[in-house]
Amino acid sequence: MDIWNYNIFWQEALSQIREDYKTNGKEQEFLLWFTFDFLESRDKIILVAVPSAFFRDQLISRGYINLLEHKLFELSGTQIKIEFTIKSKVESSHTVNPSAEASPVHTPPLQAEISSSVQKNHPQLRADYNFKTFVIGDNNSFAYNAACAVAKNPGKAYNPVLIYGGVGLGKTHLMQAIGNLSYNENNSNIIYLTAENFTNEFIQSINTNTTNKFKNKYRNADILLIDDIHFLQNKTETQEELFHTFNALYDSYKQMVFTCDRPVSELKNLSDRLRSRFERGLNVDLQPPKYETRRAILEKKLEILDKHIDSAVIDLIAENVVSNVRDLEASLTKLIAYTELVGKNVTLEIAQQQLKDTFSAPKQGNISIDAIQKIVADHYNLSFTDLKGKKRTKNVMLPRQIAMYIARELTEYSTTELGAEFGGRDHTTVMHSCQKIDDLLKSDPVLSSTLNALVNRIKEYKK
Ligand code: ADP
Ligand code: MG
Repeated sequence: MDIWNYNIFWQEALSQIREDYKTNGKEQEFLLWFTFDFLESRDKIILVAVPSAFFRDQLISRGYINLLEHKLFELSGTQIKIEFTIKSKVESSHTVNPSAEASPVHTPPLQAEISSSVQKNHPQLRADYNFKTFVIGDNNSFAYNAACAVAKNPGKAYNPVLIYGGVGLGKTHLMQAIGNLSYNENNSNIIYLTAENFTNEFIQSINTNTTNKFKNKYRNADILLIDDIHFLQNKTETQEELFHTFNALYDSYKQMVFTCDRPVSELKNLSDRLRSRFERGLNVDLQPPKYETRRAILEKKLEILDKHIDSAVIDLIAENVVSNVRDLEASLTKLIAYTELVGKNVTLEIAQQQLKDTFSAPKQGNISIDAIQKIVADHYNLSFTDLKGKKRTKNVMLPRQIAMYIARELTEYSTTELGAEFGGRDHTTVMHSCQKIDDLLKSDPVLSSTLNALVNRIKEYKK
């Protein structure tokens, strides 16, 4: 046997991953995505065949390839890399020329396909997050116009601008569109980062005695874009630092844009002076899109991807996926991947079948466990699968227990039913988790405010 024959690890990895997905009630997802062929293996490389570049990019961006590589490492003790070859439309014999076909793959998805409208790529910005790809509807036209005005007249139109709204409604997209446009038109020094990275970098600079460098970097920006400032709650020292950065930039008429998942007035443990700075300029909100906008977004995405899907199917998605644009996009992507896989058009029936998990999520008049899990997972930066999965590390356990606690409070499900919804756990586990959170709440005011915020968001999500 060829020493590089990794087929055996490959088979085992797939079978274990499938088991995990099954436990989490996600076998459908597994069957859709993990359907590519093992072609051959070479030194620390496995070459697989996928139906299209789109499919490949999705596999990467959805983390499936990471997951597989991770599993392969666990099983074989070797860092095996997965490379791709795109199956040609006509099934030719397997003449694989890896150097020509298997492109080095770690490029972000879609970006390459969409970037035509942005000539210059800013290293921290996604080229496809621009104004041209953003669909304007009732829910976002004010925010869109404000963002355009700012991009064209940074530091002059409104300063700062704060865009707020729930997850997946386009805050990051709009913020980066401002960055992309200004970067291309004015060539200014644009810095984009999340509040979390700002915090981490600041802490790092304290640890390495480089706070001056840190201060200079941010106080010299022409446009400073900080995403998800709700992360700054409780981060007293970072707030202080941002306060001074804010003042320096504001005094020299430099543009600042922030995003937040709720109105600033609802942020907890934020210094009054920083709060008043955030509120100083223009605060605009993004709402979930209505039916027409949802439809227009789907059509836009198809146009960008140069893909076709039946109008009736588009209707079906637009009618059923109401929560936010991210879910809307995800449903579409799933269907496109499916069509590419089976090589035929999606019928209404297939769409219904493929998307039934997504569709059934928001039960009418009732809060769905799915929504609770999604929002809690999102808040703690975990994947939905992790939250429901088997991992027992602390960073997953606590959020999972919190999600169970909230589900117990907000829904009518029994502990047995809840256990089933949380990756097939026993009802005693659910009871134990609720008890534990109950105990923690008695002594932890921060947890209690986090919990309140989560509950609010979950109730919002339902509306
Ligand atoms: P948020 O930062 O509010 O959580 P994002 O900006 O990440 O949301 O948006 C989620 C996804 O939805 C992104 O892929 C984004 O491109 C897309 N999106 C959101 N709003 C729109 C819109 N109005 N038109 C087109 N795409 C949108
Ligand atoms: Mg965002």
